[in-house]
Amino acid sequence: NKLRVGLLFGGRSGEHEVSISSARAIAQALLSGSNQQKYELLPFYIQKDGRWLPGDIAQQVLASGTPLQLDESNAQLPSDNSTSLPIPTSFCLPVSSASSPSQVADVDVWFPILHGPNGEDGTVQGLLQLMQVPYVGSGVLGSAMGMDKIAMKMAFAQAGLPQVKYMAINRAQVWSNPCVFPKLCDQIEATLGYPCFVKPANLGSSVGIAKVRSRSELEAALDNAASYDRRLIVEAGVVARELECAVLGNDNPKASVVGEITFESDFYDYETKYTAGRAALSIPASVPESVAAAIQEMSLQAFAAVDAAGLARVDFFYVEATGEILINEINTLPGFTATSMYPQMWEKSGVPFTELVDHLIQLALERHR
Ligand code: ADP
Ligand code: MG
Ligand code: MG
Repeated sequence: NKLRVGLLFGGRSGEHEVSISSARAIAQALLSGSNQQKYELLPFYIQKDGRWLPGDIAQQVLASGTPLQLDESNAQLPSDNSTSLPIPTSFCLPVSSASSPSQVADVDVWFPILHGPNGEDGTVQGLLQLMQVPYVGSGVLGSAMGMDKIAMKMAFAQAGLPQVKYMAINRAQVWSNPCVFPKLCDQIEATLGYPCFVKPANLGSSVGIAKVRSRSELEAALDNAASYDRRLIVEAGVVARELECAVLGNDNPKASVVGEITFESDFYDYETKYTAGRAALSIPASVPESVAAAIQEMSLQAFAAVDAAGLARVDFFYVEATGEILINEINTLPGFTATSMYPQMWEKSGVPFTELVDHLIQLALERHR
């Protein structure tokens, strides 16, 4: 009997399209090699408005690789709308109709491949946990810790991992009180200086992030970041190479070879991340063996510090001039297209894509036992 894998993709975040690409690659891997005999694919597409669409519609999105327009889905759904209820209603309903044979209750193991808020942050993990079905990746705590840059940095500090100087800020300090705001900016300037990076605490793909060099840029960036999240972080800017390491496993995780991202732009912003040809990956990174070894060790420490499970990509700043290695962040559901850094780093470490997908599902089952 094949294990039925519920591939959960799309989602309500800005990384909806990336999620579809990741899901396509995973779906293909499930239908390749020895995975074909072991697994059956049940795709579930979460639309940008949060509705779960199983069966043929999800298959169609996977096949086309493009998001379903919100009005388009209404036209295609059965008139009783039984397959299109938003969560939480849909997950407790047996989502069934003649045209969509896959049901939430049929799933033996979930593979959520959702990036960013409402997917990578513990919310979906909480739902899957309540369903008492195994799922790939980190649990509620690991996902939430890995998404919130303030909580993440507190855990890293506790583990003794070196990182840039930063300040945690609340939206209320930016918006509520006109007397507080100038003092806050003074404090940021005195503590961190310029350039510094202003970020919403709970996002990804560089959304809402600004590199600022002056008081007016700082004020505008804080206001903008506050529109994305209640929690903000401001960090001292470093001039450094950007190195990454992939971690795979549960209680005894392994670290991959180290990779490097290079680009021409001012920093690794949204456009650079998602415009073809703007960034280059080199795996393994050309760094001294001792630097690679230190990064692998720090990656495993970071993985444990936030209580990650299954997979994570850990990102670093390497200040070549001083030899300093600073941890930047952990991503508990990193990009997973065939050309993404995470699977590529495993490929170069001797774990091909199809095997990686199989391994992650087995880790999910192991954790559930
Ligand atoms: P995200 O989770 O959205 O990827 P990051 O914190 O990784 O956010 O920041 C995105 C990019 O911004 C980094 O890859 C890097 O290029 C740049 N960056 C962020 N923080 C700093 C910093 N403190 N110093 C230098 N560059 C930074
Ligand atoms: Mg991130
Ligand atoms: Mg990042």
